[in-house]
Amino acid sequence: MHNPWISEAWRGGFLLGGAWFVGWLIGHPQTLLLIAMGAYLGWHFYNLYRLERWYRKRQRFHPPAAGGVWGEVFHHIYQLQQRNRKRKRKLARMLARFNEFTSAMPDAIVVLSEDDQIEWLNKAAQHHLGLNPKQDVGQRIDNLVRHPRFANFLTRGDYSKALELPSPMGTQHTLSVRIVPYGNRRRLLVVRDITRLKHLERVRQDFIANVSHELRTPLTVVAGYLENMADAGDECSQRWGKSIDQMQGQSRRMIRIVEDLLTLSRLEADDAPPLQDEVAVPAILAAIREEAIALSGEAGHEISLEADRSLWLRGGEKALYGVFSNLVFNAVQYTPPGSAIRIHWYRKNGHLYLDVQDSGMGISAQHLPRLTERFYRVDPGRSREHGGTGLGLAIVKHGLERHGGRLEIESRVGEGSLFRCVFPADLAIDHAN
Ligand code: ADP
Repeated sequence: MHNPWISEAWRGGFLLGGAWFVGWLIGHPQTLLLIAMGAYLGWHFYNLYRLERWYRKRQRFHPPAAGGVWGEVFHHIYQLQQRNRKRKRKLARMLARFNEFTSAMPDAIVVLSEDDQIEWLNKAAQHHLGLNPKQDVGQRIDNLVRHPRFANFLTRGDYSKALELPSPMGTQHTLSVRIVPYGNRRRLLVVRDITRLKHLERVRQDFIANVSHELRTPLTVVAGYLENMADAGDECSQRWGKSIDQMQGQSRRMIRIVEDLLTLSRLEADDAPPLQDEVAVPAILAAIREEAIALSGEAGHEISLEADRSLWLRGGEKALYGVFSNLVFNAVQYTPPGSAIRIHWYRKNGHLYLDVQDSGMGISAQHLPRLTERFYRVDPGRSREHGGTGLGLAIVKHGLERHGGRLEIESRVGEGSLFRCVFPADLAIDHAN
């Protein structure tokens, strides 16, 4: 392979050697050697100057022509430059594509630093959150999106669920806010407009509430007349006795379904006022226990209650009664006669718990995730037999959610079930007796 250093050495050697030889012939070898060295050094300086100028004036595309090592140096730098240019063009193309794609996105995206300062935002963020990329980059997001629930959400650290917020632009829009942690303690704020979804949900809720409401009156009238007919004791009621009984049973069932649907709509309503009663949970549980004993009747379930007497709860009395009674009455319905049911109300590790534990038929694991869906029943026949609407656990779930709580279910077929309501500790009221 051609080595420029060898030809450079030849060039230098030839020049200096030649100068010395000619100098020797004319009797001034040192002088001529010095002149040749000066010329050689001058040539190097000249090339160094050309290199510096070429590098400074980058607009000149091609490097200057040069021989020897300098040619090689120019060539390498030129190649490096070309490669950098290509890389830059590629990066610029990628950046342009990224910008195009983020501005076309309908969701707002904001990159937040560790201290919640805005580092970058896309076009939709201007539209949804009213942020201005020129003024607001570097500002704290909670100074610009001012909503107490947003501030809490930002500091809470649990980003598994999205937060729903009214639009800070003062419009009637509803936004869903998600936070995605990434990289070096940075966070991505993703905001989506869910106004249409909320509207559809509201239409569905209103429809169910209206239908239930409209059905209530005619059903009550029918049930009333059926009762009159059953009580009449005349020829007609004797002849149609069995049918009237069945009709009464069905109309009672329909009334129960309608009532349960109305309860659910009330619990689901977004604009419902916060539940602020001081609820005497131990007293409510004692009353529910009495009712459960009556419901059990001859079946003779052993229903025990263990409750922290001083522990009350801030919430909705009616809603909580619905939650607890559904769980206890279910335990009676789905447990064989004579078996034990335990109700336990207590505080532990910063949470409040209500356990309803039975030793009944249990539920197999595949049904557990769907149990709180409306009208979901493991055994529809058995549920209807005891007058179940299939809405009880949906009411329990929504009732707990209204209180910021949740339902946990543990169950094994043939061994029994544990339904556990978990409430946040800040709802506790210490009620000295
Ligand atoms: P239902 O009116 O049918 O009782 P729920 O919503 O209260 O409706 O309960 C849904 C289903 O969950 C019931 O149909 C039943 O199959 C099951 N279930 C509820 N509680 C228990 C329990 N304690 N033991 C066994 N199965 C239960």
